[in-house]
Amino acid sequence: MKTVPKLASPHELSLQLVRSRRDFLRSAAGLTLGSALLHTPLVRAGVPAKKRKVVVITFGGGARDQETFAPEGQENIPNLVRELIPQSTFFTQVVNRGILGHYVATASLATGVYETINNFASLPPEHPTVFEYFRKDLKRPSTDAWVVAPSNGFNRIGESNHRAYGGGLGASVILPKHLLAASMSARETDYEHLLRDNYETPLYAPALGGNEFQLRQLESILRLSVDDFKAHALTLSSPDELSVYIARRLMRQLAPSLLWITMHDIDIAHAGAYSLYIEGIRRTDRLCLEMWQAIQSDPEYAGNTTMFILPDFGRDSDEDSGGNGFQHHRTGDALSRTTWMMVLGPGIREGVVHDRATQSTDLVPTLGAILGFSPSLAQGQPIAELL
Ligand SMILES: [Zn+2]
Repeated sequence: MKTVPKLASPHELSLQLVRSRRDFLRSAAGLTLGSALLHTPLVRAGVPAKKRKVVVITFGGGARDQETFAPEGQENIPNLVRELIPQSTFFTQVVNRGILGHYVATASLATGVYETINNFASLPPEHPTVFEYFRKDLKRPSTDAWVVAPSNGFNRIGESNHRAYGGGLGASVILPKHLLAASMSARETDYEHLLRDNYETPLYAPALGGNEFQLRQLESILRLSVDDFKAHALTLSSPDELSVYIARRLMRQLAPSLLWITMHDIDIAHAGAYSLYIEGIRRTDRLCLEMWQAIQSDPEYAGNTTMFILPDFGRDSDEDSGGNGFQHHRTGDALSRTTWMMVLGPGIREGVVHDRATQSTDLVPTLGAILGFSPSLAQGQPIAELL
C-alpha cells in the first residue's frame, strides 16, 4: 500500500489495512459497521441441523489489497463487491499466525490449529480436521464431506493422523488435475495449461498412484464418462475452473453437507507475470459468484447453506524488498498475514462489516457451532458475530 509509512510497526500496518478495507466496504458496497455484541442465531433461519450445509472456498494463493479491496483494486473483484459482499457479513481482519505455505496454511484452516507440518511433503495434518469432527460427531458417511484441491500436494488434506480420529473418518479428496491426468493418454498435451501442479516449486509434485481409483471416481461418483470429462476440460481456461466444475458435479451427484474448495490460480503471481496474477484474481472473483449461484439454484443447497470465502493468507507488501511486490509471501509481514473473510447464507446478517480481529484458527470452531459438532482440539474460538 503506497500510503503505508515505512516505519510503522506490524500492528500499525495491519490496523491501517483493516481501516482501509472497512472504509472502502462502507463507501463502495454500502455496508454498515456491525456490533461485536450482536448475536444472530443461525437457528433463527429455521434450518434444521440435519439439513444444514457449508461450502468453504479458500480464495487461494493470496492477493494484496491494492489488487482487491483497495479503491484501485476493486475493478478486479466486481462480483465480490457488487453481488456477494452486500449479501455477506464481512470480517476485515482475519489474522494468520502460522506458516505461510499453501498446504500447511490450508491444513491449519481445516484443523483450527496452526499446523507445523512440512509444506512440501505428503503428510497429513497432525490435528483432527473439520471433516473428521463433522463425520465422527454427527455420524455422517464419507459421501457427506469432500475436498476439491488444486494440486497433488493437497492429497492428504482430508484426514489427520490423530489417533482418536483419522482412520477413514476424513473427507474424500478429489484432485481434478490428477483426475484429468489419469484420464488422458501420455500423448495428449492439450491440457498442459491445466496440469501444472503448483507455482512455487516445480520440483515438488508427489507422484500419486491410483489411476484406476481416480477413473472409477470419475465414472461412478461424478457420473461422468472419461470422454465427456476430457471434452469439457478442454473448454476450461484454468485449474480453478476445473475445480469448480468438479465441485458442482459433486453437488449434483452427492450433495455433500460439507464441501471445501481450494482455489489456487492467483498463486501464479510467483511466476512474476502481473497480468496473469490479475487474471487469476478476476477469475477467482467470478468463480466465487458462480459457486454462490450454483448453491442458490440447487434445491439441495438453496436456503440451507452457509458459504465462507477466505484466503489462506495474503501476499507481501511493496514496502518489503524481500517480497518483490505482488510476487511472493515469504517475509511473513503484517500484510501477508492480515486477511479477510466473507460469510453468506441463511441467518447471516447482510451488509455488515466487522473489524474485530479474528484468526484463521477460528474457522473450524465456527463451523462446529453452525453444523453442531465439537472441534475439541481446535485452538480458535467460534466467531460470535456469526452464531
Ligand atoms: Zn504461493
